[in-house]
Amino acid sequence: MATDTRDQVNPVRINLYSDTQTLPTPEMRQVMAAAPVGDEQTFDDPSVNALCGRVAALLGKEAAVFLPSGTMCNEIAIRVHCRPGDEVIAEASCHILNFEGGGPAALSGVQIAPLPGRRGVFSADQARAAIRDTHRYAPRSALLEVENTANMGGGTVWPLADVRAVTEVARTHGLATHLDGARLPNAVVASGVSAAAYADGFDSAWIDLSKGLGCPVGAVLAGSSSFIDEAWRWKQRMGGAMRQAGILAAAGLHGLDHHWDRLAEDHAHAALLADGLAELKGFVVEPCETNILFFDVGNTGHSAADVAARAGAAGLRIGAMGATRMRAVTHLDVSRTDCQEAVRILAEVTA
Ligand SMILES: *Cc1c(COP(=O)(O)O)cnc(C)c1O
Repeated sequence: MATDTRDQVNPVRINLYSDTQTLPTPEMRQVMAAAPVGDEQTFDDPSVNALCGRVAALLGKEAAVFLPSGTMCNEIAIRVHCRPGDEVIAEASCHILNFEGGGPAALSGVQIAPLPGRRGVFSADQARAAIRDTHRYAPRSALLEVENTANMGGGTVWPLADVRAVTEVARTHGLATHLDGARLPNAVVASGVSAAAYADGFDSAWIDLSKGLGCPVGAVLAGSSSFIDEAWRWKQRMGGAMRQAGILAAAGLHGLDHHWDRLAEDHAHAALLADGLAELKGFVVEPCETNILFFDVGNTGHSAADVAARAGAAGLRIGAMGATRMRAVTHLDVSRTDCQEAVRILAEVTA
């Protein structure tokens, strides 16, 4: 993703770069400091155990494992579901294909069949057409992956009917199914569909703690008991097994308790931003469904990198995600006033 080295010179006043930029709140730091802990590797950390139980129940799965990052959730799940030479069906803009350093190829020896979706969502017909015939010439279609919300699609919420349709196709053809739920909490809050209903058709599913929920570190991967046993083996092998990780898990529990429902505020702020930017000359704003807003600045005569640099100099950090496509993400540390100010800055730097 885009980098910004300017903030040493120009302090960031408004940070719309990503919802990963949130800082732990004073209350979160307090519960972290006071967390009951033990060795998570021997299942003696009460905070980690509580977090895993909580997320397993939330996603309607038998068990869960606490991991350092969402990327590790994806990479371990792919490793458990697939063998080298297998193929994973996913949407072309997905995180596993574009933002994990080639992890599926490097760590699992799999290739990805990228489906051209609509705003990150693909259809059951597309999934069906992508499944290979069983033949020694062809890679084995082993896993179907869905990203909900779809980040690069525009923070898109998958309709539940579409999720059910594509997982049903996978199941019928004997493929495993994996849900990248980095922002599943946003999808749940925006749609009113429960996390368990969304995760229902999947063999594995995870949520990130370090995005909208505002934690410093961590993600939780859930599935059947036997899937989680295997995931633990890979967590150990890859060096993701921690010790008194309850310090981090306590932040997760706090985020689930206090920062879940408030995601609605982030969505309202993103909508406000969308309305404001739509008024600006030369801005083409994509539909805004959750906390992620993409827009194009090509018609202003500026490149995305140029607008990001100028905004940065004015104290607004924002992502350039293509030649002229930009991304703004709202979160815990962005207020309504910040969004109004961001629109003003973007108007000024593109005038
Ligand atoms: C951020 C993100 C990830 C990776 O999560 P990390 O915790 O940053 O490793 C995976 N998938 C999607 C859709 C994401 O947005």
